[in-house]
Amino acid sequence: MILPFRQLFLCSLVSALALVSILPNLKSANAAVAGCPTPALSRFQRHKVVRGETLESIAQRYNLIPTTIIGMNPALQNGAIATVGSVLQIPPYNGVVVEVPRGETWRQVAAKYKVRADSLFEVNGCQQDPRIVFVPGVNWSPNGVITKSPLPTNTDTPNRASLSGYPLAQVATIGLAYGWQINPATGEVFFHSGVDLLAPVGSDVLAIAPGTVAFASDQGTYGKLVIINHSGGLQSRYAQLESIKVTVGQQVKKGDILGTVGTSGQPSSSQPHLHFEVRSSSSLGWVAEDPKSYLKK
Ligand SMILES: [Zn+2]
Repeated sequence: MILPFRQLFLCSLVSALALVSILPNLKSANAAVAGCPTPALSRFQRHKVVRGETLESIAQRYNLIPTTIIGMNPALQNGAIATVGSVLQIPPYNGVVVEVPRGETWRQVAAKYKVRADSLFEVNGCQQDPRIVFVPGVNWSPNGVITKSPLPTNTDTPNRASLSGYPLAQVATIGLAYGWQINPATGEVFFHSGVDLLAPVGSDVLAIAPGTVAFASDQGTYGKLVIINHSGGLQSRYAQLESIKVTVGQQVKKGDILGTVGTSGQPSSSQPHLHFEVRSSSSLGWVAEDPKSYLKK
């Protein structure tokens, strides 16, 4: 099915009309990837307008801004009001739906819309090559100008003091820091959601704080991955492992051995390292933070 879409200054914004037709088909295409949130495009709800409701009251009910709802519903885009009995498409967060232009990656889309690549990746269910993505925190407007709204704030403030430790027995050299980085081989800019701590293959990987094992298996580019949920809405991730020595649901103490350093998945460099992440819970899912401030030996 080929549907027209509006050409905008950066990317092509999928017209709401096309979106409505596409959504049911996306549900099957957007199969959730293990360890990832359900893709935003699979989480749209339908709202039947009842007497007394206004666009503003509907937006408020779903914790959205009215322009988000207008952007997703073509019937409202000519200044029409939401009529009683009509059905509106309601996205899970504020944002817009865009088509990823041929030859572009979702990372480039993230850079264009100035949204965090890791957030965009997770909001879209960790798909490697999505054709259509939901870009969170970006506002639709009738004249095609896309503006950015602030990211939703965390619902509960993580107790950052509770998370402090080091995931290896020895303090390691940082092979690759957190944040936007340039791949020296390809020149491509990418978002590094963690820190690479150089260590020989087989070195013990340790829990940086007490918590519960939330994931312990293979996960795409992460390779063998262990995720620990800590108190205060924080999470630590240990990736590219050679072996995993814990199971899901297990309680761990600070310093417990989770596995060993390896080169599984698609490490960012050939030098053996532990890819270590800290994430905090937000309305967009688990958002990566710079692990630096949590690393204390
Ligand atoms: Zn890494």
